[in-house]
Amino acid sequence: MRQAGVWLAFAAWVMIGSGSVAFAQPPAPTSKPSGSGCQTAQGSVHFDFEGASRSACYVEDERTLSILVTPEHLPPINPSPWYAFRYHAVEGGKLTVNVRYIGARHRYAPQWRGSGDPSAFSVAVGQDRSAVSITLPPGEGVVTAQPLVTSAHYDKLLEQLAKNRRGSRIILGRSHDGRSIKAVRLGNSDAPSLVLLLGRQHPPEVTGAVAMDAFALTIAKLVRSGAIDGKQFQFLIVPLLNPDGVARGHWRANLGGADLNRDWGTFKQPETRAIGDWLARLPAQVRPVLMLDFHSTNRNLFYVQGDEASAQGKAFLAAWLRGKENAFAGYPFKIEPRDANPGLGTTKNWFSTTYGIPAYTYEVGDDSDPAAVRTTAEALAQNLIPSLVMALKE
Ligand SMILES: [Zn+2]
Repeated sequence: MRQAGVWLAFAAWVMIGSGSVAFAQPPAPTSKPSGSGCQTAQGSVHFDFEGASRSACYVEDERTLSILVTPEHLPPINPSPWYAFRYHAVEGGKLTVNVRYIGARHRYAPQWRGSGDPSAFSVAVGQDRSAVSITLPPGEGVVTAQPLVTSAHYDKLLEQLAKNRRGSRIILGRSHDGRSIKAVRLGNSDAPSLVLLLGRQHPPEVTGAVAMDAFALTIAKLVRSGAIDGKQFQFLIVPLLNPDGVARGHWRANLGGADLNRDWGTFKQPETRAIGDWLARLPAQVRPVLMLDFHSTNRNLFYVQGDEASAQGKAFLAAWLRGKENAFAGYPFKIEPRDANPGLGTTKNWFSTTYGIPAYTYEVGDDSDPAAVRTTAEALAQNLIPSLVMALKE
């Protein structure tokens, strides 16, 4: 499957790059047509850091470079074209980088961090949204589709979460690339009610990650203070479920070319299987009571159970979210009930059908204000266990 994306990029490179001066010869078809970037005497683009996209790059002129942003597999579901590159431009003029999407339209506004005059940074989206032209000041910098949130961030987060007398760090398994699937457990390991918080199945969905950070840190504080009873409730927090996809700048998939949010139940991928195996080994008295899976889309919403929700599930929804759609400043949201589509393999469906529990997809808008995302997540985390306790009494 991954091969298809490479071939598509290669074909596009050959077509669009025919006037290129970057390469005298097209690369051998077996090799990836980029990875290293491209350069002229005046400027360069590189993809040599964690989270960089694996984009093809070619030269248009001395100060104009183009990159081809391609999916890692076909078809790209819910296209979220991720790009991230480092650049250098010598003094004396601006550098233009054209980002061209293959199989998708522009979704993420470029984030720029670099030296030089900020007013020289500008963005022009093409009329059909199949390309975006980014003008950069001379100097050095990094351009990313969303803020770069990679493994170093998560190592810090997990450390903070585990700074808790009721916290412990767990390695659930390893990814295709051998990266650890890291988690923190809060509360006692024999606490009967288990809440799962999962994140970054889809690499580019950074606004969901912002919500998850704030949510998890609030839960940790409540467990630490005793406001949440760690003898009754335990939490498994897995903020980076697709570390390979994040490191490699994927749009959607893991390194196995699979959408992890379609793998629940079959557990063919090591990342999802790591959680499935951990759940299967739980002591008999421990049972999942709730699962939240953090994502991003074009608006704030929660995918929740529909008619299939149990009485307790409906009571939980009523206590936790219902009626609060406009209660948070800067963070209006929608609630979208959807019954499980058996066999689809989403996290939400699998937890709902396997355990009969509330299992929600917590979707954050791509452009939602980060401060509002955080304060809302904190407020919702504060209310989570009281809502659950109320519902479990039903
Ligand atoms: Zn997603």
